[in-house]
Amino acid sequence: MTSDSKCVFCSPSSEHAPRAYLESPRWRLLRHADPVPIAGWMMIATRAHRAGLDEMDAEEQRELGQILARVAGAVRAVTGCERTYAITFNEAVKHLHMHVIPRHASDASTTSWALADRYRSTMRGEMDAATPQVAEQVAQQIAALAAVSLGEFGFAPPEANR
Ligand SMILES: [Zn+2]
Repeated sequence: MTSDSKCVFCSPSSEHAPRAYLESPRWRLLRHADPVPIAGWMMIATRAHRAGLDEMDAEEQRELGQILARVAGAVRAVTGCERTYAITFNEAVKHLHMHVIPRHASDASTTSWALADRYRSTMRGEMDAATPQVAEQVAQQIAALAAVSLGEFGFAPPEANR
């Protein structure tokens, strides 16, 4: 499988690698690393090293939409958010990952570009992040729910968690 030894997403055993909640032959379900601006902020990353969307192989291209829809459904069911956002930059880590983010009707700071301001404020410590305990608990609930609908793609808890 294509990998890059300098990429943290390609080195799941590295201490800087994000924890995978579920894995399939082609994908990992992750959560945003602490500090998490909003509990329930999840990520879907390819297992192979892909620098961006245009490097996905045919199977990854076919699966991504269905996987995104199911993860978004689980994020919405668990967090009670009104809608979800999906964005991808692949900038800090140049390995394809889609962010799936809860957008809460009651919180204007989660709305479209205000989310970018909230993100930067959280990273600078000017705005409270989700506590690591809450972020972890919510991510586990989302993964447990998503595992049901993602089973057909071969998603299961990673070897280390079994
Ligand atoms: Zn990589």
